[in-house]
Amino acid sequence: MAENNSGDNRQQDFPKQSRRPNVPSGGFQGWLVVALIIALVSIYFLSKTRVLKSIEPLQFEQMVLNHEISKLTIIKNKDIVEITLKKEALPKYKAELNDQQGSVMTQGTGPHFELPINSAFSFETELNDLQKDIPREQRIHATSDERTGIFDFLMGPGLLILMFVGIYFMFFRMGGAGGPGGQIFNIGRSRATLFDGEAKVKITFNDVAGLDEAKEEIQEIVEFLKNPKKFTDLGGKIPKGALLVGPPGTGKTLLAKAVAGEAGVPFFSLSGSDFVEMFVGVGAARVRDLFKQAKEKAPCIIFIDEIDAVGRSRGRGAMPGANDERENTLNSLLVEMDGFATDSGIIIMAATNRPDVLDSALLRPGRFDRQISVDKPDIVGREAIFKVHLKPLKLSSDVDPKELSAQTPGFAGAEIANVCNEAALIAARRGKTAVDMKDFQEAMDRVIGGLEKKNKLISPEEKKIVAYHEAGHAIAGWFLEHANPLVKVTIVPRGIAALGYAQYLPKEQFLYRTEQLIDEMCVTLGGRAAEDIIFGKISTGAQNDLERITKLAYSMVTIYGMNEKLGNISYYDSKGSEYNFNKPYSETTAREIDEEVRAIIQNAYQRTKDLLTEKRDKLEILAQELLKKEVLFQSDLERLVGERPFAQLTTYQEFIKGEEEKEKALELEKEQKANEESQAESVETETPEASK
Ligand code: ADP
Repeated sequence: MAENNSGDNRQQDFPKQSRRPNVPSGGFQGWLVVALIIALVSIYFLSKTRVLKSIEPLQFEQMVLNHEISKLTIIKNKDIVEITLKKEALPKYKAELNDQQGSVMTQGTGPHFELPINSAFSFETELNDLQKDIPREQRIHATSDERTGIFDFLMGPGLLILMFVGIYFMFFRMGGAGGPGGQIFNIGRSRATLFDGEAKVKITFNDVAGLDEAKEEIQEIVEFLKNPKKFTDLGGKIPKGALLVGPPGTGKTLLAKAVAGEAGVPFFSLSGSDFVEMFVGVGAARVRDLFKQAKEKAPCIIFIDEIDAVGRSRGRGAMPGANDERENTLNSLLVEMDGFATDSGIIIMAATNRPDVLDSALLRPGRFDRQISVDKPDIVGREAIFKVHLKPLKLSSDVDPKELSAQTPGFAGAEIANVCNEAALIAARRGKTAVDMKDFQEAMDRVIGGLEKKNKLISPEEKKIVAYHEAGHAIAGWFLEHANPLVKVTIVPRGIAALGYAQYLPKEQFLYRTEQLIDEMCVTLGGRAAEDIIFGKISTGAQNDLERITKLAYSMVTIYGMNEKLGNISYYDSKGSEYNFNKPYSETTAREIDEEVRAIIQNAYQRTKDLLTEKRDKLEILAQELLKKEVLFQSDLERLVGERPFAQLTTYQEFIKGEEEKEKALELEKEQKANEESQAESVETETPEASK
């Protein structure tokens, strides 16, 4: 139970403000559906009561001759005759009448039976023939009628009604915001969430840790929003828009909100995909509406998250020949951005992870002319973010933000926030009074690998394979110079597929050399190579590894120009259409690429295998220890297989020290520069006086 709870909490992921706060969640529609179902069911049952028993013509003749019938109704559209019996005749047919289902009507007033006929005319002729010996006043005559059953209803007016209801529902769904029933009229309204008045943004720059450069750049916008006159009086032009570029969860939304919070202005927030709708022209209408609303609230900020949903370069992503609704939306956005004057006080901020796919028109001066990069935080940034999110927690004394930040390489701000929350939940579940380092350790594992699957059944044999597989990664990483040092390796099953994983400490770097990529490839292949060496067999466990190295190898050859045979060539086309099926190279080149990729991977595999065969004793030791302990850290590795043979920072502390030293050196440099500058200034000020 507790496990489940935590699972749910994990998904929580710090909800952003709900985009449509006031929309009743389909209560009205729900009632409509229920009413419809009840109506249909009751019609069905009512129609059941009209099911009459048919009788044979012979039996009917008897009834006529015995004067047992009180009424005959020819149902023209069904070719039957409904027979109503006289009261005194009813007991005679009691048994047959009781047989009939839903006999409410058949028992009393009738009709009681039905008789299939060929046509009304032939029936009447036969009836007359049958009664020709009966005195005229005792003869029975048939009247005619038409009857619409449930099916007639459904095929006729029912179908029409259903269609109307269907169309109505369709618009309901698509209309989005607005009161019930009004959606169709609101479809062109912008779906932005407005933070104003009571719900004003309260986030300030203090809530945004790290990102110092971004904050500095954006400070100007805050100043402008606070006091636009100061800028415009000097004839200066303020950027209309700023584009925040960076991976998800790095705090782009947070930063934009902080700008609004600092400046104390209303904040319109929406996502690029909110513009996109099935109907042509809706996106453009929403853009116009958004700007209309914003003008009323100016000065204000419009924040468009994931702007690439509308802002992709025109022609890209569209099926060839298709008239793209998104293009209209983008055009309208461009027009609106041009349309408002710089002093109108509206600033547009947008976030994207893919600035390369954006239409160049969006990035022109006068639109999003400012690009602010919001990258994943480095070790110093992570520490700062940890500090922000640790603040509300009750911590035990062993929690050190420095160490936490060192253990979370590659984490974005959102993940760090998640770790902190998760750690607090874990501690609470254990009934602790303060969150300690162990809780954080577990929280990090959970955020990286997903939930621990304690009761996932793994046979001892499989476990052995996993242990050797992971040990293979670890050993390869340990003895390859350019690979990232290992932080931790575990064979506790987690998440959906992972049976174990090895976590490395990546360097904070943006450029990779060929050797690094090759070494990384070898580390990734280490798992399969180990299985191969130890068991002489391979397993499916390496699928994920293989996928990664295949992608990497193809990128090396076709994107990064890292292959000798193909040379310095990159086939990557950042502006091209996604649906471009024409490869920009010939069949021969394609074959060459495939061959080269295969060769790269083959070489790397052989190299890994050689390395692991050489270190087989160490591999065995590590795998056995893993089977015993399930989790091993870097220190264990040092103990078991010896120091890493490369002069590289291996432990967190050393790594941090290195970073700190770098920082110090930078500061020293800055100080020196400042000194030099102030000296230069004093020299400058002295000279004029001297010349006087
Ligand atoms: P993005 O818009 O880049 O996808 P968000 O701004 O929505 O990311 O960030 C999600 C959450 O992550 C924030 O609400 C915040 O709790 C946390 N977060 C991200 N970056 C930072 C940061 N630099 N400082 C503090 N918290 C951060």
